[in-house]
Amino acid sequence: SQQQALAIAHQPAITRDGQQVRIFANIGSVADAQVAVAGGAEGVGLLRTEFLYLDRTNAPTEDEQLAVYQAIAQTLDTRALIIRTLDVGGDKPLSYLKVAPEANPFLGSRGIRYCLDHPDLFKTQLRAILRASFGHQIKIMLPMIASVTEVHAAKTILGEVQTELSQVGIPFDAAMEVGIMVEVPSAVVLADRLATKVDFFSIGTNDLSQYIMAGDRTNPRVANLVDALHPAVLRMVQQTVQAAHAAGIWVGLCGELAADPLATLILLGLGLDELSVNPQAIPIIKQTIAQLTVVEAQAIAALALQQDSADQVRGLILNQ
Ligand code: PEP
Ligand code: MG
Repeated sequence: SQQQALAIAHQPAITRDGQQVRIFANIGSVADAQVAVAGGAEGVGLLRTEFLYLDRTNAPTEDEQLAVYQAIAQTLDTRALIIRTLDVGGDKPLSYLKVAPEANPFLGSRGIRYCLDHPDLFKTQLRAILRASFGHQIKIMLPMIASVTEVHAAKTILGEVQTELSQVGIPFDAAMEVGIMVEVPSAVVLADRLATKVDFFSIGTNDLSQYIMAGDRTNPRVANLVDALHPAVLRMVQQTVQAAHAAGIWVGLCGELAADPLATLILLGLGLDELSVNPQAIPIIKQTIAQLTVVEAQAIAALALQQDSADQVRGLILNQ
């Protein structure tokens, strides 16, 4: 029942054979953070910071950002907060930063590419995140990573900002973890290399599905091809998890797939350590996990990888 689901939502999600999966929330505002905590989130796996930058005429200042990050961190108390750096550009251009229109925005200057091209904008955000990290459980996450070089470039800039803050005596968490979104197919292929450079991965199946299937995620004509339950996407999830665990780092998943109770069995079987979902989905996902065993989940996941379509994967799940 609804009531049982809510009671379960405030407990850890543990399978019948004793495996815990951390259930975090995807949020995009301070209000969302309150909903997430009330709904039983064990942390925030994805704070989309775009909301701070869109619908205004100039970039948010360091202090404006700091206030918001601190308010969210305070709402979360001791829970982890993973702040994703700005993921605009492409189909979400910022009016106050004049960029030439692109023929293929999803293949253009978005996410980390955009930030590395606008280091002042990037540094302001990094300073705000670092300052907020003092006394809070904050981790930073880089979107749209396609190469080791980008990780290196971003970490170099982060190091510069840390040095600047130290020089003027502004405190921050020097041990703040740095992770990346795995949402570009090259990042999956390079996952073993990337895993040696970062502290965690979070798989973004929304973008990974569109990039692996070569189908625009906003184009309804290719919607049945761009399906996160497609075995091509699931195989990429498996590869990423295996590379992360071989390197000794944890791996979560923050695409919409994580909030689909039909997918929970397979994601559990593929070995994800954390699922980050919209706050409303927390009760149902925790309840679903409590009914499963890792042993059965692994068996179904292995079968799912051998199917030929997302529909066949759905059939497999519904018939078991
Ligand atoms: C994703 O791509 O799966 C993701 C979580 O990021 P966004 O939807 O913000 O692109
Ligand atoms: Mg994405």
